This record gives sequence, C-alpha cells and structure tokens, in this order.
Amino acid sequence: MDVQLSEDHLALRETLRTFVDREIRPVAREWEQAGRYPTEIVEGLRELGLFGLTVPAEHGGLELDLVSMALVFEELSRGWMGIAGVLGTHSLSCRMIAHHGTHEQRARHLPAFATGERRTGLALTEPGAGSDLQGITTRAVRDGDHYVVSGTKTWITNARHADPIPVLVKTDPGAEPAHRGMSVLLVPTDLPGFEVSRDLPKLGYKGPETCEIVLDEVRVPVDALLGGEEGHGFQQVVSGLEVGRVNVAARAVGVAQEACDRAIRYAREREAFGRPIAEFQAIQHKIADIATQTQAARLLTYWAADKVDRGERADTEAGMAKLFASEVALEASLESMRVHGGYGYSEEYEVARLYRDAPLMAIGEGTNEIQRTIIAKGLLRDHTAGGPM
Ligand SMILES: Cc1cc2nc3c(=O)[nH]c(=O)nc-3n(C[C@H](O)[C@H](O)[C@H](O)COP(=O)(O)OP(=O)(O)OC[C@H]3O[C@@H](n4cnc5c(N)ncnc54)[C@H](O)[C@@H]3O)c2cc1C
Repeated sequence: MDVQLSEDHLALRETLRTFVDREIRPVAREWEQAGRYPTEIVEGLRELGLFGLTVPAEHGGLELDLVSMALVFEELSRGWMGIAGVLGTHSLSCRMIAHHGTHEQRARHLPAFATGERRTGLALTEPGAGSDLQGITTRAVRDGDHYVVSGTKTWITNARHADPIPVLVKTDPGAEPAHRGMSVLLVPTDLPGFEVSRDLPKLGYKGPETCEIVLDEVRVPVDALLGGEEGHGFQQVVSGLEVGRVNVAARAVGVAQEACDRAIRYAREREAFGRPIAEFQAIQHKIADIATQTQAARLLTYWAADKVDRGERADTEAGMAKLFASEVALEASLESMRVHGGYGYSEEYEVARLYRDAPLMAIGEGTNEIQRTIIAKGLLRDHTAGGPM
C-alpha cells in the first residue's frame, strides 16, 4: 500500500502551486470583493490546458486521473475557491460527453472544450427541484427534427460562458419511474428563447457567475440529444457524480488547508500578553485539531479518487470524502477566524473569504444530508465487517 503521491502528481502540484502563487493570490481578495470576473486567470488556466482535464487525449485533452484532478482543485481552492468553479462543471460535463456522447458529439464539442476555446457548465437544478432531480419540470417535446424545450433552471454556474450547455429535461413526463423519462440535451446558448435571465447574488463563490436560465420554447435540433437515445439522462448525470463529489471534497481540502496555514502564520506573528498567541495552549489545540482534520479529509479524498481511478464503484467513498471534507472546511475556516480574533472578521484578511466560501461545499454536488443517505445505502448494500481497507 502506498499513500505517497507519485512523481507525476508531485510535479503537477508544484506547477499548480507556482501558478496560484503568481496569478491568483496577488489579486484574489481585491477581485473577489469587487465582483470582477477573473478573465486573466481563466486565460492562465487555458494556457495550462486545464479545461481539458477530463477530455480524452484523442480529442486534445489531458485525460488526467482523478487523483490529479483532486490535486488541481485542491491547489486552486487554496488560492481562491471560485477559480475552481470555473473548471468544475465544465470538467464534469466534458467527462459526461466523453462517456455518453455519440461519436459525432464527442468530435464536435470536446476538442474546443479541451482548449477552453469554448466552455460549458451543467444545468440540472430548478427553482422547485434540487436534491430531487426526478422532480424537474423542464420539458422537451419532439417536433420533427427538433425538441421544443421550456422550463427554468437555477443556480447554474458558468451559464454566461457555456456553449452548448447540457440541460436535464423530461422527454417523457409520464414515465414510471420518473428517471426513465429524462434526457440530457446539449443546448446551444445562442438559440432564440434561451436566456440567462439573471446573475444570482451569492454569499461567497464569487468569480464565476451563477445564474438563472429561462428556456422559452427553444427549438433544439434532435442531434443535441446526448447519446442519441431518450430516457438515459438521469443515469448520464448521476454517473458523473462520484467525480463531482471528489472534486468538491478536494476544493474543501484546499479551503481547509489555507485556513490552517493562515491560522499558523497568524498565531506565530500576533502577540498578546507579551508573547505570540501561538504559545497559548488554547490556540495550539485549535491548530492541532484543524491540521489533523484537514489531513484526514485529504487522505479520504485521495483514497476515493484512487478507487475511481482503479475502476471500482466508489459512490460510498466519494460521498464520505465529500461529507467529511466539507464539514472540515466549515470548521477549519471558523476556527481560523477565531485564531485571527477581530481581524478574522475583517474583509481585509483572507480568512473571511474562506469562511464565506466553505458552506457551498456542504450544499453543492448533493447536500451533506443526501450524502449521509448515499453512504448509509452503500454500507447497507456492501458492508463487510472490519471496514473498507
Ligand atoms: C453557488 C451555487 C452554485 C451551484 N451551481 C450549480 C450548477 O452549476 N448546476 C446545477 O445544476 N446546480 C447548481 N447548484 C444547485 C445545487 O446543486 C443545489 O442547490 C443543491 O443540489 C440543493 O438543492 P436545493 O437548493 O433545491 O435544496 P433542496 O433540495 O430544496 O434541499 C433543502 C434542504 O432539504 C434537505 N433535503 C432534501 N431532500 C432530502 C432528503 N431526501 N433527505 C434529507 N434531507 C433532504 C437538503 O439536504 C437541504 O438541507 C448550485 C448551488 C449553489 C448554491
């Protein structure tokens, strides 16, 4: 058993660290607070080839393993979690198209997605249905060579930069069970009736836009149906969720690590009662706890990623990693804020951003309440006494 990163993984991590130190850290606080889109950083992501993370090499992508993907999302999130969001749903949708798209769909979309010349996102959630995706109401009605699509999607990250965007729809609303009547359409965003109607105001996760999309009788050519056959949309979407959960877990590890690093640095520098606060046991215990939890979250995340890389079923493991790491990010950012005292509550220090960014990881990619259900189902299905390793 080997819990060390390989030479390739270490080299990738070093490249990311250099990029984050040079391109992200110097501007993150100012741009985040100004609500400025990180155009120059996105250009840097393109130059590194990171839009092709999950795109097969035959279509010009990096085709990285999932441990590498976790490293990318962890390191970017140490600098600014919002930047990871620019790549997040793009990478998931590329992977979904690579796995489930027709030959023609892969050839048409993946090369441009790999270079970042075109980008994408993923439109699942609706005002009335998030956790319960089978409850969506966006409808696609076949009309000759087109589907006529109507409905509203909400909380869609990267919506203004996506073209086409995979949209989960109902092609047969009467199907039982409901998921058999669901499909994914790769909707071109310049079609009449497609409108990104507003940007949603967010607590954190600034940088990428998160929007509402209205589809008003959008006529989508039938060749946009992912995989070419109706009724597989739900499976196509959930088959990528393990990867999405590792992605979110890795972002949470990055936020937690940054919170920990900043707590240690501040505790060494700040003096009270004539000595550095690092000398107080109360502060030492906070640092010990968050550093230990962060490393545990990291190992859980790499373990889940490695299991997916080995081709094994990993829904329970990815759920555990996402659940644990996101709770650690919440805890670590709050404890780091406490170590910073009043300055932790100031937007002039980075720890405030970590605290605003952390909760998203407990909500996105399946809330932590849903993760617990998934983990319990997996354990009740597969459990063997003595634990998983
Ligand atoms: C910043 C941001 C970006 C996002 N980006 C995207 C995106 O790009 N694309 C996209 O499609 N979506 C996106 N989302 C949506 C996100 O995936 C959903 O918000 C999430 O899945 C939860 O759905 P919901 O908000 O409808 O909450 P609900 O499903 O209404 O849940 C409300 C509460 O009820 C609980 N709950 C619901 N069902 C159960 C159950 N069966 N058992 C126990 N508890 C339950 C939930 O855990 C939660 O606590 C984004 C959200 C945010 C905040």
